[in-house]
Amino acid sequence: MRNYKKQKDHTKLICSVGELACLFTDSTSLENFLQRTVELIAEHMRSEVCSIYLYYDDTQELVLKANKGLNPDSIGNIKLKSGEGLTGLAFKEQRPICERCASQNINFRYFPGLGEEKFESFLAVPILRGATRIGVLVAQNSMKNYFVEEDIKILRAISTQLANTIEMTRVILSIEEKHQFGQETAAVKDLKFIKGKVGSAGLAFAEAVVLRHESGLQLYKQTMPSQGHTREDFHRAVQLTERQLEGFQRQIEEKLSDVASLIFTAQILMLKDKSFIDSMEILIQGGMSPSTAIIHVVEIYMKKFADIPDAYLREKSHDVQDIGIRLIENLFGDHQKTETCQEKIVIARELFPSEILKLSSQNVKGIILLSGGVSSHLSILAQSLQIPLMIISESQLLSLPRKTKILMDAEQGNVYVNPSQEIISRFEEKERARRIIKKQHRRVSQVTKTRDGTVIRLMANINLLGDLKNALASKAAGIGLYRTEFPFIVRSDFPSEEEQVVIYKKVVEAMPKAEITFRTLDIGGDKVLSYFPDHLKEENPFLGMRSIRFSLRHMDIFSQQIRAILRAGAGANIRIMFPMISSLDEYLKAREVVFSCVEALKKEKVCCHERPQIGVMLELPAVLEVIEDLAREADFFSVGTNDFVQYMLAVDRTNEKVADLYLPHHPSVLRALKKIIDAAGKFRKDVSICGDMVHEEKYLKCLLGMGLRTLSLNPTYILKIQAAIKKIDIPEAKKLTKNILTKSRLSEITLLIDGD
Ligand code: PEP
Ligand code: MG
Repeated sequence: MRNYKKQKDHTKLICSVGELACLFTDSTSLENFLQRTVELIAEHMRSEVCSIYLYYDDTQELVLKANKGLNPDSIGNIKLKSGEGLTGLAFKEQRPICERCASQNINFRYFPGLGEEKFESFLAVPILRGATRIGVLVAQNSMKNYFVEEDIKILRAISTQLANTIEMTRVILSIEEKHQFGQETAAVKDLKFIKGKVGSAGLAFAEAVVLRHESGLQLYKQTMPSQGHTREDFHRAVQLTERQLEGFQRQIEEKLSDVASLIFTAQILMLKDKSFIDSMEILIQGGMSPSTAIIHVVEIYMKKFADIPDAYLREKSHDVQDIGIRLIENLFGDHQKTETCQEKIVIARELFPSEILKLSSQNVKGIILLSGGVSSHLSILAQSLQIPLMIISESQLLSLPRKTKILMDAEQGNVYVNPSQEIISRFEEKERARRIIKKQHRRVSQVTKTRDGTVIRLMANINLLGDLKNALASKAAGIGLYRTEFPFIVRSDFPSEEEQVVIYKKVVEAMPKAEITFRTLDIGGDKVLSYFPDHLKEENPFLGMRSIRFSLRHMDIFSQQIRAILRAGAGANIRIMFPMISSLDEYLKAREVVFSCVEALKKEKVCCHERPQIGVMLELPAVLEVIEDLAREADFFSVGTNDFVQYMLAVDRTNEKVADLYLPHHPSVLRALKKIIDAAGKFRKDVSICGDMVHEEKYLKCLLGMGLRTLSLNPTYILKIQAAIKKIDIPEAKKLTKNILTKSRLSEITLLIDGD
């Protein structure tokens, strides 16, 4: 032992420290610099372990940043408060601590998995620059009583010499961490309660995970321990990743058969692509570690995708990155799974519909978006998937540290960061109440009547086949709006006529006797077909090639859809309506397509519905001046208030900045609705509203007072709306409406609506 100690080369060590400054400039990264430092000190001191802890003012924690001899996974994960453990004590008291048998010291702090139990000799010296406390330098050895007085002096000298450089390292690292990975900033620390808009109601309490398309891989690059993996480990990771993706795909197919398509196939295919995996293999064979090889190749591919002019393919660079992250996670094993979304609350600046589906297959608890509006189609999709979703303009949320607990009350529109026990208890109570209310759906009456006995038809809006269950459970009288575009949106290509027939048949068969209204393809606006490049180029997509305009421009796609609806609807009570109709001509042109499809199918002797009701979805103010002409021709009207309000008031429904101007009770909107209802009445045509306006109890009285007798709504609202309708007396409602329609000021209308 004595001999071994004599081999310590203090003089050489001090010289080498001088060389460290040069090493710094040569290092590939700051972590690499710290790592080389501890390796060099360990080597010269003949200590089996050497570590550097850096102190972060914002979190008031010492974080293990470099280490030789302990479990490499612990880098970045071991965190101590000042005074905690022997290292924390050295820091707090700004003095060296030398222990011959560390585990016997009452201040010793044991970290499972760190692997330091066998290193009994312990020496820690604070790293200080003047009065500034930077961190702690620690050396450990398995031989008891290993460090002597001289070692303490030397380690102090080294720490002083290194203090400047290490401090610089810490500053740069923390800037990078803040910038890239959102370490907790002072402002974020203050983030406790945030108000937001509810896109999809519900409650969730879970850890947050911030999705950053642009930096997810970077995070791994910076935090990945330099753990040795073999080629076999790499192969195992590839196979595991493949199995996971196939599993997700299967899950999504079971849960969401209509929209499943091949959401994960792009990624599965990449894994099967020889050149992608082989490029990694070649690097590994050449001596590169598997994790570095994965990152290297994934970055090359991401760049390749990012350079592609086609926007859809460009987006695939996210998929490539996603594979990279999965491969690395699987290489390192479960404990490294820091960025998966399983059971978490996902925070993202924006998401694609297909991403929401992916997230749903990972059972995410909730979603917080930094952009979009509550009536955006992402919200609508989240409602169908029953994932609570909120839109919040607080971009600091993107900087939340990983594993921060979030409580989302997407009923009240509240988000709590690191909620107190009291708030958690309240949440648990609410959650219990919600479960009870869910069961009460069975208590929905078959027929909805007002207090005076007027029958009101409550129909369901459905987006995904999965919504049918809810529609049936809430005893909807039929489907007032089936948004047929969802199967189109999340796919990688147009669904064929046959595929559409299969999907539409499921809708018809779920409610064989009920009236089912198919809304033809409504894409454009915020519903982009990623595989249809034309769409991605529009400056003003809400004023562009949207809805019926798209269908009339692409007659082949339109005819295929109409044929599929007619075929699926054979013998059933189906209706077809066209979205975003702006003129009588447009309606007649679209209706003509239905007629000619019927004729063609009959000629082909294909069984189909030969005379469905054909209606107009009223969503543009342009219809108002020709409303009677339309009422004369059309079989029915359905008012899409989500769009009607948007276009009437020129308020983008997806833009939270103008959300306060999105006012369904604006006098122009209410008077327009009255005009529509009257025109329908005059020509004895059915009229309903299928926008979210009917989810709000406060508007019901006014709408029924105008003469509306059919509402189509998200089935989860039926119980609530039915209960509200039961309290309404039609003669009273008529009086109120009459009064409201005379008012020209919003404030007066608000008073009447709220005050009633
Ligand atoms: C509407 O605009 O009100 C509507 C029901 O259609 P969507 O929300 O799908 O645009
Ligand atoms: Mg609409």
